[in-house]
This record gives sequence, C-alpha cells and structure tokens, in this order.
Amino acid sequence: MNETRPPIVTILGHVDHGKTTLLDFIRKSSVAAKEHGGITQHIGAYQITHNSKLITFIDTPGHAAFEKMRSRGANVADIAVLVVAVDDGIMPQTTEAIKHIQGANVSVIAVVNKMDLPGIDTKVSLLKIKKQLSDHKINLEEYGGDVPLIPLSAKTGEGVDKLLEMILLVSEMHELKGDSSLSAAGVVIEANLDKFKGSVATILIRNGTLKKGDQVMLGGVKGKVRGLFDFNGKAVDSAGPSTPVEVLGLEGVPAVGAVLGELPEVKEAEVIQSLVDRLKAGDTKTLKVIIKADKQGSLEAIEASLLKFNEEKKVINFIFSGTGDIGEENIKLASTVGAIVIGFNVKVATNATKLAENEHVLIRTYNIIYELLEDVEEVVNTLLEVGQLEEVFGKANIIAEFPHGKGEKIAGCRMIEGIIAKGQKIRVMREGVLVGETKLKSLKKVKEEVNKVEKGNDCGMLFDPIVDFAIGDVVESFRVI
Ligand code: GDP
Repeated sequence: MNETRPPIVTILGHVDHGKTTLLDFIRKSSVAAKEHGGITQHIGAYQITHNSKLITFIDTPGHAAFEKMRSRGANVADIAVLVVAVDDGIMPQTTEAIKHIQGANVSVIAVVNKMDLPGIDTKVSLLKIKKQLSDHKINLEEYGGDVPLIPLSAKTGEGVDKLLEMILLVSEMHELKGDSSLSAAGVVIEANLDKFKGSVATILIRNGTLKKGDQVMLGGVKGKVRGLFDFNGKAVDSAGPSTPVEVLGLEGVPAVGAVLGELPEVKEAEVIQSLVDRLKAGDTKTLKVIIKADKQGSLEAIEASLLKFNEEKKVINFIFSGTGDIGEENIKLASTVGAIVIGFNVKVATNATKLAENEHVLIRTYNIIYELLEDVEEVVNTLLEVGQLEEVFGKANIIAEFPHGKGEKIAGCRMIEGIIAKGQKIRVMREGVLVGETKLKSLKKVKEEVNKVEKGNDCGMLFDPIVDFAIGDVVESFRVI
C-alpha cells in the first residue's frame, strides 16, 4: 500500500535573505492555505497545492531547529531550498546551512532571491553566486551537477512558480512514498504549553496515519490524541504521510525533534550513536571495518580506495574482509570488536539482520564504490567531531617470542604498515580486541638498538609495562586525535 506522498520542504539561508518573505508569499498565494477560510495560524508547517499537487513547507526557518531535529537523527525534510540574496551572496549562515544540508541527505534547490532589487547587475551577481556555491560543493545543474538554481523575487512573486514546479519535479524524481495504512511515524517540529489547551505539539507525519484516540509516545512524553488540527486550525480526525498536524492530549511538552514511532533513519542514527558510545567506552578508538564483497576484484578495489583514504587520516582499522553475503558470523565478530560491516554487491542473511539489530551493529550495503567511500568518510567525520578517533602510525605482526629476563619476553615482529617508534603509545591487539596498552622499553633491529622501525623491517620489541602477547597478535603505535 505504498502511495506517493507530498514532498516536505524546508527553507534555509542567511538572515534577511528572504526566507520568511518567500514562505509568506507561497502560503498567501496558495489555494490549500485559503480553502478553509479560517484564521491563518502558525503551527510550524503548512501545505499548499500547486498544479493539483500538495507540497508541505516547514515554516520555522532557522538552522537551530533543523539541526536539533537532525541531531536526533530525523531528516524531516525531503528537499532543502537554499536561499541566497542576490545583493549579498553567500554569507556565514549560508555556509552553515550548506553544512547542515550536506550532512542531512536531502535534495537541494538553490534560490537566488531579491532579483527585483534595482541597481544591481543581476548577470554579474548571479555568476558570482554560482561560483560561490560551486566553491561550497553545491553542484549546480548547469555545471554538470544535480542542484537546480532558480532566480526569483519573494517580494513580487516573480519566479516563485518555477520554484514550486521544480520542487514537484525533484520530488517526482525521488518517488517519495508513504503508506497511510501504517501507524504513524513522525517528528515534533514545534511544541509548547498553552494556557487553555495544555500541551500542544505539531507533529510532521512522515509515514502512516495518526488518528484521534491513538496512544502516542514522543521522546519520553506519552499521551492519548484528544484533538487533531490541521495547519488552518480545522479539527480533523486523522493525518496521513507528509501532513503537519497539531496534537492535543500529551501529558507533557515534548522536545522539538522528538520522534513518534519508528523512522528508519533514526534507527540508523541510534546505531551510529551506539558505535560512538562504544568507542568512548572502549579500548581502541579506530573505526573498525569488516568488508564483504561479491568478488575478490571488488574487494581489492574497495580496500585500495579505503587504504588511500586512510593514508591521510589513519583511523580505519581493517578487521576482516572476504567475499560472499554478510552472515551471522560477520555480525558476531563486529559486535565483539565494535566494528561496522560494509557490504558491496552482497546481500545480508535474514538471521544476520536480526542479530545486527539486537547487537546494535551497523551494516551498510552498496552497489557503488563512490557512495561507500562517501559514507565511510561521513562516519569518520562524525567520530572525529566527537573526538573519538585515534591516528594509527604503524602496525606490526608478532611472529615470534623470546624469553627475556625475569618474566619478560621479547616480541619478534614484522612491520606491516607505517612506522613504530620509541616514545609512541603502543598497544597489542588480538583480532581487533585490545590485549594491553604499553610503551617500548627496547626496540632492536637485529642486534642494534634503534629509535624507530618502518614497514618491511623485522624487529624485536620489549614492552614496559609487560603485555601478555601471543604470536599472531598485532602491535600498533597510535595517538589520540
Ligand atoms: P529572513 O530573515 O531570511 O526570513 O528574511 P525576511 O523574509 O525577513 O526578509 C528580510 C528583508 O528583505 C525584508 O525587509 C524583506 O521585505 C526583504 N525581502 C525579502 N525578499 C525580498 C525580495 O525578493 N525583494 C526585495 N526587494 N526585498 C525582499
């Protein structure tokens, strides 16, 4: 029962670039907004009809709200309209908006506003803005990218029709689907305590239907839906996919961004969050990956690309890679060592999906290497942001052990990556799990004491404090980033 649902649009940009004016113009000139003739009220979102198709606009411009929702993992909008005033160009909050957009996995439409302003060489200004956008990795259609750019005036309304058409076109391309037979899933976009009505929350329904009488739970606040009102203030009995609706009957005031029901991306955000928590609590702070691919050839290609990416940041730790579908054993290993599982052109066995859900293991599968790399980069950046990563300088395999002194033993090592030097933090790992953290008391190449060893060298390492290592363990030198 998958039906097409209206696109949910948010408008972002620098202060005074015309977001409110644009939202007002669209609302005032639309049929749907006027059809009930009620008093215009503001509930945080509204819907319009254009060419007989519905569009939902979130009308709380402001990055803080957008970011709040995103931080809870909820991508509320399908399309972000990025507004830039023609006389001003890209300003600090435009850059901030671009950052949010790029992290949020939404489609972008760029708008150059205030085209009616007199005394502006619009040709020159437009060209300048296009260049600025390109510099910020907004890939405009006319330069071969996928972001349309629409010059308009929110004041006179000239060009606004083109924007609405573009919104419909973009949403058609993405085939946005909803299923109104499901129970509701959505996000709180506004909430407050009203003197007369009590707790009032606007929920943007993302999927399913919310009905009067439904029991709901919103980020710890529960309630029974006593009243539902659409954006015109009209009482309704239910609200389906992409509809904003005011809800009465909650026992408290939920937070903006609180989630109703299960949104798939929220689940994923929870998994990433648990990965971050794990890293915080855990012994090692590298991004551990397990890679499964359909063929040896693709596996090598992925590893090579990830190694290249890793050359600079040195934060990825390859735990295991192999060909074939993702199975339970991969999830078990991932869970033990706190790794993510990346699949390329492979399927995930049903029991593996279940186990991953229980164990909070992140599985991502791809058909395009580029997308895989982009996502890994994103996860790495998230982890870097929360300061949970380390740089690994060098790695060595322990291939032999020799007794030494009282209770001590020397690890006979073969360097497999980078450099290990005296003074660096050292740790010994067994199948991705920490055996012990230590320092080098002595480092010998053949018989000569040295300060560092490089890839390809064999050496003897003496640890202080003592680590109970075994042959097959890996020695890593690292620093906290
Ligand atoms: P916001 O802070 O992005 O919401 O910007 P506003 O919508 O409040 O607009 C800031 C100022 O720019 C107001 O004085 C608007 O009247 C003016 N403005 C917005 N859009 C246009 C436009 O298309 N043309 C002109 N000339 N002025 C505009």
